[in-house]
Amino acid sequence: MSDPLSRRDALKKLALLLGAAGVADAYAPARAAELPHLSPDDPNAVALAYHLDASTVDPKQFPTYRRGQSCDSCLQLQGKEGDPWRPCNLFPGQLVNAKGWCRVWVPKN
Ligand code: SF4
Repeated sequence: MSDPLSRRDALKKLALLLGAAGVADAYAPARAAELPHLSPDDPNAVALAYHLDASTVDPKQFPTYRRGQSCDSCLQLQGKEGDPWRPCNLFPGQLVNAKGWCRVWVPKN
């Protein structure tokens, strides 16, 4: 026979867990804003030719670069539209400059 109190307790605990997850999600943008900015000198950044400012990319050195490309128009950029520094799928735990660029730029759909 089932114990109605145990079931009620279990449902309360589940509700608390779901509530805590919702609160954690609410703080996700704030946590992202606290992440360090990716340095162009970071070895992973160097490997992907990350530039802080896309307008400084030399098209002769990086022939895949086209004027108008920037992190802001890249499919890999995450976070809030308009923020100057945002997460990128390729550089977890750091923020890239929305005006930046790297050699794996992919257009948004
Ligand atoms: S993958 Fe896209 S958003 Fe990330 S650094 Fe490269 S160009 Fe910027």
